[in-house]
Amino acid sequence: MTRYFPKRASDFLSNINNMLSRRKNHDAQAEANLESMSEHPVKIYRQKRRTMMMRVVPGGVEVFIPHTLKANSRVVREFIKDGLVKLDGHMLPIPDEQSSTDDILVMVDDWARRVGVQPKRVQFREMRRKWGSCSSRSTVTLNTSLCWLPPHLAEYVVCHELVHLRELNHGPAFQALMSEHLPDWRERERELAQVSFSRQ
Ligand SMILES: [Zn+2]
Repeated sequence: MTRYFPKRASDFLSNINNMLSRRKNHDAQAEANLESMSEHPVKIYRQKRRTMMMRVVPGGVEVFIPHTLKANSRVVREFIKDGLVKLDGHMLPIPDEQSSTDDILVMVDDWARRVGVQPKRVQFREMRRKWGSCSSRSTVTLNTSLCWLPPHLAEYVVCHELVHLRELNHGPAFQALMSEHLPDWRERERELAQVSFSRQ
């Protein structure tokens, strides 16, 4: 897998802040205290749950803890510390430059023309398990995290979803269209499979 690293630490942080500012219910104070512990930004969410869970998201780590625990408590800090050691090496690559959703939409327009389709609606969502989806009503939904992918992988996702507007399943006709429009699509698909959404 190709790894992408920010040129400067400040780029890294501003990317992270952009992404994370969209999330609301995290504990900013506890996170600030964790900064010294990890180079990876950590977001803590208190939830109605019994166990603690930690996962990697593009550009950082999310931790979910029972609402009965304080984010600053020793047990939580220890959990996160251990988790970060285990996660080391599994962090998602950070692209040098993050694309905007507008950049992705330009990509969609371009590929819609090439593939010969006209999506009725294109929307972005934060999705846990999918990079994109499309409905039989020609609505294409793209994962907001596409902005974090290297452009050639985002392009693969865009092309894949648009080809679905011509072929709904992944059968031979679909594959033939993919090969026609994006000859190295299998390679990109393999590369994308290396980028996981979460680890527990
Ligand atoms: Zn598909």
